[in-house]
Amino acid sequence: MKKLVLFWICIVGLSMTGCRAGQQEIERNNAAESTVGQQPEEPVTEEAVTEEPVPEEATEAELQSREQIMEESVGYTNLQQIALDSTWEYADHSKINTGAAVLYLASEESGRKGIVIGVNAGHGTAGGAKVKTLCHPDGSAKVTGGSTAAGATEAAAVSGGMTFQDGTPEREVTLRMAQILRDKLLSSGYDVLMLRDSEDVQLDNVARTVICNNVADCHIALHWDSGDGKNYDKGCFYISVPEALKTMEPVASHWQQHDTLGTDLVEGLREQGTMIYGKGNMSIDLTQTSYSTIPSVDMELGNAYSDHSDVVLEQLATGLLAGINTYFEQ
Ligand SMILES: [Zn+2]
Repeated sequence: MKKLVLFWICIVGLSMTGCRAGQQEIERNNAAESTVGQQPEEPVTEEAVTEEPVPEEATEAELQSREQIMEESVGYTNLQQIALDSTWEYADHSKINTGAAVLYLASEESGRKGIVIGVNAGHGTAGGAKVKTLCHPDGSAKVTGGSTAAGATEAAAVSGGMTFQDGTPEREVTLRMAQILRDKLLSSGYDVLMLRDSEDVQLDNVARTVICNNVADCHIALHWDSGDGKNYDKGCFYISVPEALKTMEPVASHWQQHDTLGTDLVEGLREQGTMIYGKGNMSIDLTQTSYSTIPSVDMELGNAYSDHSDVVLEQLATGLLAGINTYFEQ
């Protein structure tokens, strides 16, 4: 709807610009004709300008249309690298931000939807565990445990991640998962913002979240759970926002979107026959959701005992795509 309105404003603005340009052209021609044989001092140009009727509303619409056109002209290109813009809200909370995300644009043949999915392959930032960032934008303390204990105000900028039972590091599996999901999304017409597009990206969790906030329509981080003490695959769930954080901004304004997206993703996975852990969510105080101003979910796709072969990752990607389709009503 918003797009339709903007489009309308753009069209109206353009036609007004066109009309006014045409009118000026006529006036210039008239002025040129009338200047024949006249003294050069004749204030023809001034007259033409002062006589031009410029209604207040038309000027406003024209300005809006110009803004819109400018936005479109600086539109993103396929495979564009997107770095953290220091003017973005919360960007100053990031400590590791020399890397860049990569934006993949869906082809027109795929039926491009104009929806950007932020796909965040968890972990994979060398040195990230040695640097600390604020858990919450307002500097308040963490309300639950996790990689960092409750009560701490700072957490690892990017933690190291877990290791699968077969010795594979989580960061390798999250990247493979992100690549498989990316390809599925692209062929379904979604644009994909890959927060980590290779083995390592020098973007901490705050930077990844802030880039998503400003470029994507949702943010999905991919993880496998660690430290649960279980010796079997426990299944998938998403991380929901703890009750105590629901009055803190920007969580207060967005936690319901996070829950809706998380629930849709879990249901998409369930439909694919994927095992779901418990009721499908667990509330943990995460940096990601504490800084998110768009629908944002940390998906835990299993644990150290989960099968992480391509066949399984394909199935997970199909489930996630189904959930994304449900969320965006596609
Ligand atoms: Zn993880």
